[in-house]
Amino acid sequence: EAKGAGRGVAKYFSSELQSEQDDRVRLESDLRAAVASKQFHLLYQPLVSAKDQKLVGFEALIRWQHPTRGLIPPPVFIPIAEECGLMMQIGEWVITEACRTISQWPEPITVAVNISPKQICMPALPNIVSQCLARYKVPGNRIELEVTEGVFLGNNTVTLDNLKRLRQLGVGIALDDFGTGYSSIGYLNKAVFHKLKIDGSFVREAGTREENVAIIQSIVQLAKSFRMNVTAEGVETAEDFERMRDLGVDTIQGYLFGRPLAFDRADQMVRGMVRQKAS
Ligand code: C2E
Ligand code: MG
Ligand code: MG
Ligand code: MG
Repeated sequence: EAKGAGRGVAKYFSSELQSEQDDRVRLESDLRAAVASKQFHLLYQPLVSAKDQKLVGFEALIRWQHPTRGLIPPPVFIPIAEECGLMMQIGEWVITEACRTISQWPEPITVAVNISPKQICMPALPNIVSQCLARYKVPGNRIELEVTEGVFLGNNTVTLDNLKRLRQLGVGIALDDFGTGYSSIGYLNKAVFHKLKIDGSFVREAGTREENVAIIQSIVQLAKSFRMNVTAEGVETAEDFERMRDLGVDTIQGYLFGRPLAFDRADQMVRGMVRQKAS
């Protein structure tokens, strides 16, 4: 009886796995088509200064508008793009688009771009970035690249070399989702990062979990001692904001100050800031 049930379960799992695999194969070929026919766009989420809540920049977040399945979120398709060799192409499009956008916005607004682990260890990356900057005539310090701690699991020599070359272009490098990964802090010593971004999960749980406050406190201290800035992601409530500000966080990002916005909406925000300054 139990044996029979076991076989049933095994069969169920294998057909489940099969359809998952079919789905994956379909998504992969759809992704190839998406690259060719430009089904991607960027949204821009505002970052504000904790001190005065003024707009300081945006994080560019990719979206894939699938022709039949609707919007596919990046955590679903980025890993597929990485595995099937499409990430460099998609990533180059993101960098180009972000440079084009920032060329239209005044200083000191910046745009941050996420860079995947596969991208950061490609020797061509610094050249791609410097060519995009040159094409839109923007200085390197107008863009920021965000990498996660996972990049240090791969080829460290190319990665570190790339990060250094990017810094020489004036490009800012942020360590994203800090605290959720391997959190070996040895690499902070390499002086390539200008910013730590505290993962939203810590920020949102800080209200209910005392140990998260302690973690954030030590991240802020660590950042200060390496002369890095600190951003808190995932700030959703006024309480989250006040807590992060009081803990010494420099920059705030989250639904409280704005969801990821289409270019036109983000552009309106920038124009509004410029008008405010002029008056
Ligand atoms: P991330 O870089 O940590 O980006 C922050 C994510 O948190 C975004 O999700 C954003 O929409 C979401 N978020 C922002 N504020 C809040 C908040 O207050 N509450 C909550 N619950 N969530 C908030 P999104 O856009 O789905 O992106 C997910 C991840 O996909 C990103 O995490 C990043 O790792 C990756 N990603 C996005 N765009 C790109 C890209 O162009 N290239 C690469 N390689 N990865 C990307
Ligand atoms: Mg990010
Ligand atoms: Mg993040
Ligand atoms: Mg994240």
